[in-house]
Amino acid sequence: MTAKSAILEQCAELGWQAAVVPMARRAEAIERIAGLHRKGELDDAFYQEYLAPMFAEPLPETLTPRSLILVAVPDRPARMHFTLDGETFEVLTAPGYLRAPDPRPSAVIAEILKPFGRSIAPASAPLKTLGTMSGFSRYGRNNISYVPGLGSFTALAGFISDLECDDAAAQTQEALARCASCGACRAACPTGAIGDDRFLLHAERCITFWNEKEPSVPFPDWIDSRWHSALFGCLHCQRVCPENRPHLRQYFEGPAFDEATTRLLLAGATKEEIPPEAVPSLEAWRLMDLLAYLPRNLGAVLRAERLRREGGKMERGERR
Ligand code: SF4
Ligand code: SF4
Repeated sequence: MTAKSAILEQCAELGWQAAVVPMARRAEAIERIAGLHRKGELDDAFYQEYLAPMFAEPLPETLTPRSLILVAVPDRPARMHFTLDGETFEVLTAPGYLRAPDPRPSAVIAEILKPFGRSIAPASAPLKTLGTMSGFSRYGRNNISYVPGLGSFTALAGFISDLECDDAAAQTQEALARCASCGACRAACPTGAIGDDRFLLHAERCITFWNEKEPSVPFPDWIDSRWHSALFGCLHCQRVCPENRPHLRQYFEGPAFDEATTRLLLAGATKEEIPPEAVPSLEAWRLMDLLAYLPRNLGAVLRAERLRREGGKMERGERR
């Protein structure tokens, strides 16, 4: 058995998906994204804030980079509960924010490669683009990457490896076949981020772009109070996608916070002001490091949920 087939087989046994792609694909993926930026098809702030710093990271010096190993592991939204004015609210967070990076893919791949005398190092690379250029995943109309059989609720891990890999040509990035006759995500997206003028998402219209912004940045006025669906990220377009049907209503269950703690979080409590009994839950879900985001993001989600409960009686103009 080759190292590559051992990786694919053992990942499949775990319910994961994996691919080994040539190292050249990293530069090609970066260039593809940079090209979109040069053509003005990628929001400059998005590019400068998120992508450029990642592309500038140096390659590891501990090995000869020959390939990239991509691993997709099922991921789920986190579900927490908060209490306000005696009411309990379910609050979801899109996958990928609140749980520590899954250490298993790194450990599993390193163990598989050991007998082959090969090793891995962390990869700073545009994994989503790499995956779609390698036939490993497909873009949905919502520009979210989908891995066959796993849908979009996946965590992508990437590793640079000294494992040899045939230098196969990059593939054309293809959308999910289903998108040609669907459009459910576009209909469900409240902001118009999924336009009909181009395939590329209008990232600056995406709620995710805004709830990831520095906590001091308020949501723009054009975001309606009812549109928020998650503490971080946004779930409207993924929830309606038929590719995700088998994976819906599955959550990583998080803690429930009482009224006093909820109010403290909404008021912008610092670490020192958090009651000791709430600290373990907040730390376990990485919220202690995200406290500054909660007045804006939690406030918006609770307001949206309250408005939904009230049947949208409040005026559309009442925004944060
Ligand atoms: S909802 Fe439909 S159009 Fe959108 S990504 Fe899913 S399959 Fe494609
Ligand atoms: S994540 Fe939300 S705002 Fe962004 S495209 Fe999907 S539905 Fe629209």
